[in-house]
Amino acid sequence: MKTKDIELAKSARLKSYSPYSNFQVGAALRTKSGKIYTGCNIENHGIQGICAERTAFAKAISDGEREFESITVVGAPKGEEPTEECMPCGYCRQFMSEFVDNDFKICIIDKDNNVKEFTINELLPYSFKL
Ligand SMILES: [Zn+2]
Repeated sequence: MKTKDIELAKSARLKSYSPYSNFQVGAALRTKSGKIYTGCNIENHGIQGICAERTAFAKAISDGEREFESITVVGAPKGEEPTEECMPCGYCRQFMSEFVDNDFKICIIDKDNNVKEFTINELLPYSFKL
């Protein structure tokens, strides 16, 4: 995880479409080849919105990427700076587990740009696998 990833996640967050929750999340997904794909949360009238993490993965995977190094996530209410860690939801944890191994770093940013790093096994122990 690098400073650039934090800045990209923050700028992606500002593109969030979240008129219902007014909670904006941005993510920066770094591939092992060094590319970075960003994502934001996108809501709608129903319940089928997509989180920033899965948006970033969808962009990367649909671009042919399959090997990932890290994801950096930042979130906060619209108009505010991040004041606490924005942890991936259960759906995103299960989704990410499909594409990452335990070397993958899940980086969560707080208001002081402090980084907490987690592995997928820490966030999703005993995950469902076919
Ligand atoms: Zn999620």
